[in-house]
Amino acid sequence: MKVTLIPGCNPGPYTGAGNNTYLLSGRKPALIDAATGEPGHLAALDAALAGAALSRVLVTHGHVDHAAGAPGLAARRPETAFFKAPWPECDGEYRVEWRPLTDGDVVDAGNGALRVLHTPGHAPDHVCFLDEEDGVLFCGDLLIQGGTVVVPGSYGGDLAAYLASLARVRELRPARVLPAHGPEIDDVAALVDEYVAHRRRRDDEILAALRQGHATQAAIVKVVYPDLVPELHGAAKESVLAHLRKLEAEGAVRRHDAVWEAL
Ligand SMILES: [Zn+2]
Repeated sequence: MKVTLIPGCNPGPYTGAGNNTYLLSGRKPALIDAATGEPGHLAALDAALAGAALSRVLVTHGHVDHAAGAPGLAARRPETAFFKAPWPECDGEYRVEWRPLTDGDVVDAGNGALRVLHTPGHAPDHVCFLDEEDGVLFCGDLLIQGGTVVVPGSYGGDLAAYLASLARVRELRPARVLPAHGPEIDDVAALVDEYVAHRRRRDDEILAALRQGHATQAAIVKVVYPDLVPELHGAAKESVLAHLRKLEAEGAVRRHDAVWEAL
């Protein structure tokens, strides 16, 4: 399958150098992720299509940097169909007619097909797309080479689900993994193992902070992320909440309104 990286041209604190979108060329040209509608993205997409019609846009999840470009693409390309897994609280923000994806679906893309893998955790609607013939996994925001993935506890994130999604993708042993941010993943099993170890350490740090009397999300963030730039404080708070919820489900902590207690 011919895959062309089309940069989203939307750099920022949450997107790094900007999003990666991928064009699969062939009979049914398909774009994986819509990015945000930056002129540079639209121009690069036009150039890569070289006059071909864009058959479909497959969105990995409803976060702004992956889906917000959809209405602009739809306005320019009435022939294009838009697909994503449903997230009812969020899907209405983007005024396109979404065709629903569910786990196990097989969608034509380029000259082949992609299998849909529901991989929630970073977002409830998150999916990866697997080209089973070539062993290429388009992993969206599940994995980032050289960084970790935010699990936003108050906005659809679920750490236990995220860890289960990581385990599922590790089992697949894909030959190539192309993410929505950063470079190609060079060793998916090693990266997943690193992520799992990182999350275990974070659980331990949060439990230790609670035992030292740092009992609110904000207090825990100060202890666990001492050198954080202010722009990323919100994300750190979300991540701490995701850990606390998982620890609560495991019976390791208890919540009283905004105050948490280790058991
Ligand atoms: Zn995301």
